[in-house]
Amino acid sequence: MAFNLDMYPVIYFAQYNSAKKTWEEKWIEVDNIPYDELMKMSEEDRAAVYAKRNQFGLPCVSYTSQYGYGCFEGMKAFSTKDGGISIFRPDCNGERFYNSMKGLKCEPFPVDMYVKASVEFVRRNAELGYVPAYDPEWEKDNYATASSVYMRPFMNSEGAIGVGCAKEPYVIICATTVSTYFKGGNTKATTTNRIRATPHGTGWIKAASNYVISALAKKEAEEAGFMEVVFLDADDHKYVQEGSSCNIFFVMQDGTLVTPELGDTILPGITRRSVIQLAKENGYKVEERKIDIAEVMSSAIECFVTGTAAGITPIESVTHEGKERVFNDRKPGPVGAKLQQILKGGQYGSIADSHNWNKKVK
Ligand code: PMP
Repeated sequence: MAFNLDMYPVIYFAQYNSAKKTWEEKWIEVDNIPYDELMKMSEEDRAAVYAKRNQFGLPCVSYTSQYGYGCFEGMKAFSTKDGGISIFRPDCNGERFYNSMKGLKCEPFPVDMYVKASVEFVRRNAELGYVPAYDPEWEKDNYATASSVYMRPFMNSEGAIGVGCAKEPYVIICATTVSTYFKGGNTKATTTNRIRATPHGTGWIKAASNYVISALAKKEAEEAGFMEVVFLDADDHKYVQEGSSCNIFFVMQDGTLVTPELGDTILPGITRRSVIQLAKENGYKVEERKIDIAEVMSSAIECFVTGTAAGITPIESVTHEGKERVFNDRKPGPVGAKLQQILKGGQYGSIADSHNWNKKVK
């Protein structure tokens, strides 16, 4: 099971009231069908329930539906080994969401409201049985195939026509269940001529519109037999940026872990930030700097991509201008594997959460 649209029944819904200068919040319980009962239904009936949960009344014509003006987050909640449920670093996602909305010149959603609503959101859906229970089997492959709750907070503009910025944005939190994001087997990546983000643009914002280029480039890569695409910079078309929905890391011959430095064309990933910290704490030298694709093709010995959905996914090779650079005999490299073990172990609670990254729901 990768991403799907098996929507959860309880949805958080807020809208900014510009006259009163307040956020008006409500909880929408589209239905209260417990998860176990839903699973007993026929496939057709279940599909109808899921479809209904995905139709809860946003305006048909809005800056979002017409111009791709919007932003969103991706965040995970985990069942932990001790029987609890936690959300991974919701304060960081809340902060990025705040910055995204500010970057889109609309009223930013306060971080404390974001965290509070997220916790309550998971609690309410958990009550109806929608948080996959912890399974010790997950430990066998280091949680590579474990399930979790994929939360999708997003901003949508009010009903509007004519190019403009939202004045009364909605903030919605919904969720589905997710396990491995990339379908196993092929983990080849290729560079693309397409440009994801330009300087002074919206690449640093988790803006809906950014993902059109990503989708096109990823489709082209898949059609050519690759799993993922690697974007290069807009000015020189030689510096590595990131993947379609993930940041990218390389291990160089001297063991240094290198990732492109942040700027206004790269999304500041929460996983990226966590991986850098964990790597430093575990004795790796980490550099955030410009990486010429020529350096990757001549000197990188390992590569992996990071993201909430992707976790830490090893990349077997990068192809650029017809040449393929193979990493670690196409097998997952040791640095990514070690960091994955630490990151996932902390998220699922098999390793102590020494950074206090897990926000407890229960
Ligand atoms: N870059 C892009 C373009 C993304 O969509 C994502 C996924 N949110 C990431 C990087 C990774 O960010 P995070 O680790 O916060 O999920």
